[in-house]
Amino acid sequence: MDAADMEAKLERVLLTEDQIQTRLRELATLIWADYEGRELLLVGVLKGAVLVMADLMRDLPGSVRMDWMAVSSYGSGTKSSGVVRIIKDLDTDITGKHVLVVEDIVDSGLTLSWIMANLGSRKPASLEICALLRKPEVAKVALDVKYVGFDIPNEFVVGYGLDYAEDYRNLRCIGTLAPSVYR
Ligand code: IMP
Repeated sequence: MDAADMEAKLERVLLTEDQIQTRLRELATLIWADYEGRELLLVGVLKGAVLVMADLMRDLPGSVRMDWMAVSSYGSGTKSSGVVRIIKDLDTDITGKHVLVVEDIVDSGLTLSWIMANLGSRKPASLEICALLRKPEVAKVALDVKYVGFDIPNEFVVGYGLDYAEDYRNLRCIGTLAPSVYR
């Protein structure tokens, strides 16, 4: 789905498809410089990270593996609380592995902090984060995101895997929704 297909529902395009793809290629170059020669396992968090994972992993010029987790976070409305339950765990034993968690967005960082603590307890050889988007809220928690695509303002965004009530994940760009959508 393109921005034009959204008609009046899209308020503003924040990042075009081209900007996203260019930045992912840059991130892939940085990641490959750090991990080349090591076995790298990319861990995605369902469902938002599906598109980032698909494009980022194809930008890496060598073999990598992927695995997925699904979690549910208990919170009020659009805010997460940091209380997390695993819905689907990894298929892989990550002990001794180089793990890079691939995320669509880090907002409060509470969900990801919990995931990092959980994965860290499984004794991987290394554990880092790559997030396409980061909001300023994350400054409140101690979360070191090694690879960041874009720092964005504190606005609710959709597209490129990000949803509002499960819609708009298939939008090619990333943008904000018109206020009428929320009514
Ligand atoms: P956190 O625990 O506050 O960092 O929540 C992270 C999760 O909230 C992300 O993985 C998204 O699923 C969701 N989220 C946070 N901000 C947005 C947004 O702007 N659009 C869509 N989903 C978001």
